[in-house]
Amino acid sequence: MKKVAIITDNCISCGLCINMAENTFTWDDEGKSKVINSEVNDEIINISSLCPTGAIIITEEEK
Ligand code: SF4
Repeated sequence: MKKVAIITDNCISCGLCINMAENTFTWDDEGKSKVINSEVNDEIINISSLCPTGAIIITEEEK
């Protein structure tokens, strides 16, 4: 099963991912993006490729 995660140190708080998928990403207390729903679909894969710093990663997890 694929999961999405954020490398918080790499996030520059541009807001792109949160604007595009507010059900998956939201702001954390330090103004960085955090994942609220790690489910992956084609849109999330697309957004991960658009993050300017590559902070959004898709991982393959064993069930
Ligand atoms: S698109 Fe990338 S840099 Fe921008 S808020 Fe999301 S994780 Fe942070």
